[in-house]
Amino acid sequence: MRQFGIEANFQQIVSGLRRRDAQWRRQPMSLGLAADILSHPEEARHFDAFASVRGLKCDAESSLLQRVSHKPNLTVLTGKAVSGFVATGGDVTRVSGVECEDGSRHYAAAVVIAAGTLHSPRLLQSYLERTGLAQVLPSYRQVGRNYKAHVLTAMLALSHRPVTDVLCKTLLLLHDDMPHSTVQTLGGNLAEEIVRSQMPRFVPDWLAAPIAKRVYGLFLQTEDGSHPDNRVVATAQGSDRPLLDYDLARLPAAQAEHRRLVRTLQRQLLGLGYVALVRAIPLQGTAHACGTLVTGNDPATSVVDAHGKVHGMGNLYVADGSVLPRSSRANPALTIYAWGLRLASHLGSTVLAGRKAAAGFTVAHDGG
Ligand SMILES: Cc1cc2nc3c(=O)[nH]c(=O)nc-3n(C[C@H](O)[C@H](O)[C@H](O)COP(=O)(O)OP(=O)(O)OC[C@H]3O[C@@H](n4cnc5c(N)ncnc54)[C@H](O)[C@@H]3O)c2cc1C
Repeated sequence: MRQFGIEANFQQIVSGLRRRDAQWRRQPMSLGLAADILSHPEEARHFDAFASVRGLKCDAESSLLQRVSHKPNLTVLTGKAVSGFVATGGDVTRVSGVECEDGSRHYAAAVVIAAGTLHSPRLLQSYLERTGLAQVLPSYRQVGRNYKAHVLTAMLALSHRPVTDVLCKTLLLLHDDMPHSTVQTLGGNLAEEIVRSQMPRFVPDWLAAPIAKRVYGLFLQTEDGSHPDNRVVATAQGSDRPLLDYDLARLPAAQAEHRRLVRTLQRQLLGLGYVALVRAIPLQGTAHACGTLVTGNDPATSVVDAHGKVHGMGNLYVADGSVLPRSSRANPALTIYAWGLRLASHLGSTVLAGRKAAAGFTVAHDGG
């Protein structure tokens, strides 16, 4: 991970905002990009949400899978959807493996669910219901609850200044008076592409292009908080797809802060010579789904413990964004990775160490 210097257009916006309002603060962003990505502007403009053809971006393929796929003790199976968990003999509180949609079964000492915030609760809920544990485990009632998505707005700020920034996502803007919110840029030339695609057909390209090149894209996000009624209704009506029951009206404080953020920024940008148009990003547009199997000490209000183990289950763990009890004001991926690394360390020092000790091996671990 490395930080990149702020570029000219964003620098101009940030300095202007801070001159008008001392409560704006800057927080450099850490990006998993190669140091020389700016020598390849096309790659730098499109790193956000796209793989890098030249391998200038860290992603799961280049940073992990390619490095470990040759290991004799690792098998990666693709194209196999897990349909459920397999119980161990008569003890349904221990799972011995997973069953896939093609009928194949795979066994392990510990099973880690990592199907994401929408699908992990579906898999867990159906196991708990099928085995009768739903009637016994208090945490069953929390499965799927506390779904979070961030309140999001895309802002297109038009001025007379041509946009020359390439990387754009160099820092986050924070505001002391709106502690659950952040402002970041839309990556690369996304704003230009949005404007060009939204122009009425009768606008000729010689007119559309220079306008689009003067639009700076900003991405405003506010933590929506946790509400138990905002949830994934995993198997409702027999569906094998997750259904959402989510209403932002259940979180009035988040709604109010986000509205204030949008208005404050629009007003202050106008003072700097930018006309800012906004579009609220709807629930289906979120990329930051979190919650639904939240961690906590009390099985009555949470689903997994501090190590990610499902309350009441012997060896079933969760390692994805569903465990997050809050989603914070920033993007969630690094927090999810940190949780996964912590769980891996825990499993290495407990489950796997126990098996190897039984077989006469010693396992070294860092105790983290
Ligand atoms: C366009 C886009 C841009 C984003 N940009 C950022 C960003 O800049 N910064 C940031 O922090 N976050 C970003 N995010 C969010 C980030 O990608 C997610 O928060 C993160 O990937 C969630 O991780 P996860 O492990 O919880 O779930 P996922 O990454 O969704 O992983 C779940 C996996 O489980 C698989 N799966 C589901 N069901 C089954 C099943 N039954 N059997 C087997 N496998 C199954 C899925 O195919 C998927 O591969 C972005 C997301 C999107 C969509």
